[in-house]
Amino acid sequence: MRNKLIAGNWKMHGSLAGNPALLQSVAAGAATQSNVSFAVLVPFPYLAQAQALLTGTSCAWGAQDVSEEAGGAFTGEVSAAMLRDFGCRYVVAGHSERRARHGESDRRVAAKALAALEAGLTPIVCVGETLDEREAGQTLAVVYRQLDAVMESLGVRRLPAIVLAYEPVWAIGTGRSATPAQAQEVHAALRQRVSNADWVVGSGLQILYGGSVKPSNALELMRLPDVDGALVGGASLAADDFLDIGRAAALA
Ligand code: PEP
Repeated sequence: MRNKLIAGNWKMHGSLAGNPALLQSVAAGAATQSNVSFAVLVPFPYLAQAQALLTGTSCAWGAQDVSEEAGGAFTGEVSAAMLRDFGCRYVVAGHSERRARHGESDRRVAAKALAALEAGLTPIVCVGETLDEREAGQTLAVVYRQLDAVMESLGVRRLPAIVLAYEPVWAIGTGRSATPAQAQEVHAALRQRVSNADWVVGSGLQILYGGSVKPSNALELMRLPDVDGALVGGASLAADDFLDIGRAAALA
């Protein structure tokens, strides 16, 4: 059975003064739940604070983006080795907000995932279709294209070291989650795609669902056979909601 992970993407939220209450509540709640893992993905300036407050707890931390470059003249970028310096375990690669706002291509996302892996981080690689693409019947073609770029860059044998996240773009921050049937269809298809290359890797691949996950819909999503946890945006900013999603995952 695959382990479940509940990862909170804080996006561009938080403050030095306000973060400790949230981090400490999440860490305290995570300590009471044994069969689900927790992580928070905080803005770069708060990594040191997350490291200070979460070291020794059962909540991991990480970042929301990483450079594909190891170092050099790349103003504004942050390398995977720098994230390691702050004790990060995870980093998001290819969130749809970065694909859309920063023009991140499939190849660039794959290169970021590779850079993260090579530095010993676990990349959480996001794939997902827009509403137009879904309505045009292109959902699977889009997520396969995004996944294939990662498989080509990493090789299937390294996929056990990543986490995949299916995040339909139309469900992110909209309050409109995918239905369980929609989520299961895409998760199963992604797993099958990997299984076609290597059955053992496909069956063990951890695939999170993301897109308006909240306590009220978490149980039905977490019960799906091919859903192995959640990437949570808005609801990760309230400790009770985030921990309730974790409880649903533990129950599922
Ligand atoms: C996200 O930011 O990855 C996300 C899924 O956001 P939300 O849960 O707010 O839809």
